[in-house]
Amino acid sequence: MKDRVIVLGSVNTDLVVKVRRLPRPGETVIGGTFYQNQGGKGANQAVAAARSGEKPVTLIAAVGNDVFGRESLAALQRDRIDLTHVKVKHSISSGVALIMVDEGGENAIAVASGANTALSPADVNEVPDSVFESAAVLLACFEIPVETVRAGMRRARQFGVTTILNPAPVPEELPADLFSDVDIMTPNEHEIARLLHLPQIEDEAGVRDAATRLLDRGVRNVVLTLGARGCFFAGAEGTGFLPAFPVKAVDTTGAGDAFNGALAAALSEGRAWGDSLRWASAAAAISVTRAGAQPSMPFRREIEDFLK
Ligand code: ADP
Repeated sequence: MKDRVIVLGSVNTDLVVKVRRLPRPGETVIGGTFYQNQGGKGANQAVAAARSGEKPVTLIAAVGNDVFGRESLAALQRDRIDLTHVKVKHSISSGVALIMVDEGGENAIAVASGANTALSPADVNEVPDSVFESAAVLLACFEIPVETVRAGMRRARQFGVTTILNPAPVPEELPADLFSDVDIMTPNEHEIARLLHLPQIEDEAGVRDAATRLLDRGVRNVVLTLGARGCFFAGAEGTGFLPAFPVKAVDTTGAGDAFNGALAAALSEGRAWGDSLRWASAAAAISVTRAGAQPSMPFRREIEDFLK
């Protein structure tokens, strides 16, 4: 069967301290509450794919040999994600984000990408052929080296696997030949502007123009996500706007990850393009009604009920 979803990306742990106000340089602020959240775009997208889909999900990623990495993997295992090809790197820490949030919601964040930066093209090339042979879709994001993403896309292509690239966060430099290995690129408005060195998109004409420019680079389809406005899709599978489902948004962190994971899962089940986009936007809409990123990823049953 060719129905597996491969997710290639990052695993992070968010260490969050709530503070009355953010400390100034050299200052210590006492009295904050502490939370530890599982994160990393790759991990979030793998969870979204596993919960929303019914096909196996394999994660290709790297963690350090430390308590954060072990806890991240334990959480991913609870979502029945295949972790056989997650590398444990011994000389580097797991990816960690140190986040301080004040009462007004203002934050200061420092990220140590750690093991994510050590995930190499060789790690991707070591994954046995059988994994790619049994895959329908490969979903990749950045927060890992560009060359590693390129190796994943290339290998997926060789095995006839549909490739989705969520170009987040946008790297400084992208090799020109990466674009032609992408079946579906899923930037948000900021990411597409950065990718193409364009000013921020202002209106519908800007959306269409940016998508066309990305197609001209060799990408087969673009799905430009527009937050509460939904998404615009263009390319080989058709062109149009899909409005978002109207919901009361509580926390939009991870909306894009929910969208991408659910899109990959839907396509791996052989759903049609329009159905897959609808499934992805329903998953994303549910996720924004809940707090957090990874915990907010909806289960299949919830999406089915939502769409009834
Ligand atoms: P990112 O999280 O990567 O910035 P977006 O904000 O564009 O991505 O959101 C991704 C998708 O999530 C959108 O295309 C839409 O389907 C859905 N979404 C985001 N915000 C909302 C919202 N407020 N209400 C309903 N759906 C939303």
